Amino acid sequence: MIRLRKPKIVVLGAGYGGLMAVTRLQKMIGVNEADLTLVNKNDYHYETTWLHEASAGTLHHDKARYQVKDVIDNSRVKFVKETVVSINKDEKKIVLSNGELEYDYLVISLGSHPETFGIKGLKEYAFGITNINAARQLREHIEYQFATYNTEEVKRDQRLAIVVGGAGFTGIEFLGELANRVPELCREYDVDHKKVRIICVEAAPTALPGFDPELVEYAVNHLERKGVEFKIGTAIKECVEDGIIVAKDDVMEEIKSDTVVWAAGVRGNSIVEEAGFENMRGRVKVDSYLRAPGHEDVFIIGDCSLVINEEINRPYPPTAQIAMQQGITAAKNIAVAVRDQGEMEEFKPDIKGTVASLGEDDAVGMVFGKKVMGTKASFMKKMIDNRALLMVGGAGLVVKKGKFKFF
Ligand code: FAD
Ligand code: NAD
Repeated sequence: MIRLRKPKIVVLGAGYGGLMAVTRLQKMIGVNEADLTLVNKNDYHYETTWLHEASAGTLHHDKARYQVKDVIDNSRVKFVKETVVSINKDEKKIVLSNGELEYDYLVISLGSHPETFGIKGLKEYAFGITNINAARQLREHIEYQFATYNTEEVKRDQRLAIVVGGAGFTGIEFLGELANRVPELCREYDVDHKKVRIICVEAAPTALPGFDPELVEYAVNHLERKGVEFKIGTAIKECVEDGIIVAKDDVMEEIKSDTVVWAAGVRGNSIVEEAGFENMRGRVKVDSYLRAPGHEDVFIIGDCSLVINEEINRPYPPTAQIAMQQGITAAKNIAVAVRDQGEMEEFKPDIKGTVASLGEDDAVGMVFGKKVMGTKASFMKKMIDNRALLMVGGAGLVVKKGKFKFF
């Protein structure tokens, strides 16, 4: 193939998938072979997998983020701090909040948006665990409720009622942090712990649907001991200004609360849908090389992509684990495409396991097919978190941002 100009590779999003792709591409592709651009709306990357801690206030949000420029080769990669507004795949253009970019090869790794299933009031009144701004806002909101409670003559107990929608992995991990944070807040603001309610509403017949039942029981018992009330088999039907309306077996109930947190699932970034790619809930079923069907120059990875687990004929749940592995494969395949030489690699997820934290000191997980719980699982969870830092930013980043308080 004769090229008249250097191809432009553009990566959208500096999350797990995007950073993994860029840090591999900057090593693989020579400066004379292609231009490399990374676009992200912030100048920092945040660890999405730590946002439940920042949201509850058990970890400062600065600990959960680092500067993008600290992990990329700035002489090789052009970093553009801008918000992507839209993708014009036919003209191979990206519209940014300020300007435009052209591409020859595109990696879309823009993460997810909350899935609200069209439930009334959620967008207006519920908090989400979605990014640093949202985490900071939720942490401050909860603290404000505790700080305000004793200033009012007529006490509003709903200030101290926190509702978490969804007992999936995000909901359970957030509950674990919250259950540890509440006693601290009670001490700090002289609030009687008995007045506080943490209520988790889960529509499915069990918490953590699909996870090992023994581990689910361990997690639920652990959280109940710390004061969490579970309403299982109960669906949130509406969110209103001062609480939620739920239904179990067609019986409706209103729960008064000044803090409703929606943690009941995600869909791919809406930009992907708006760009006109065929999708399921914002996720594009990519081919085995991670390309969008009909668009061999567009690679879609992370939460915007959909990969089928052939063993059960269902999509893999979107995780950081998969996003990072896809970032590596996408980088290899783009190198093949740019050089027009070699064989592209088929993407095969290598699922090592799943570990859910239950606060800083406890966790449950399935690792290499074995069940783990308690401090051992918690230790593993921190090692997984540290490994993600290592893979993107090397040992220096682990020293700066890693988790080392093991027991
Ligand atoms: P992200 O890592 O979310 O990155 C997307 C990036 O795109 C962000 O930097 C964002 O700022 C940027 N962006 C978004 N929109 C725009 C725009 N319009 N313009 C410019 N930039 C934009 N998975 C696991 O494997 N293990 C876990 O333990 C785990 N724990 C989790 C805990 C929580 C609380 C949550 C919410 C999720 C957890 N996950 C976990 C899931 C995991 O975080 C996601 O699957 C993973 O982050 C997806 O990676 P990504 O690269 O697709 O998106
Ligand atoms: P999820 O889809 O895994 O769980 C959402 C939960 O909300 C489900 O249990 C569902 O039944 C429930 N739900 C849906 N609608 C409801 C309603 N109207 N009322 C009450 N409950 C309702 O979503 P998530 O927990 O946000 O996780 C998103 C992705 O991130 C998943 O792929 C997950 O595996 C991953 N994740 C992984 C970890 C980890 O590995 N430790 C942690 C967090 C998230």
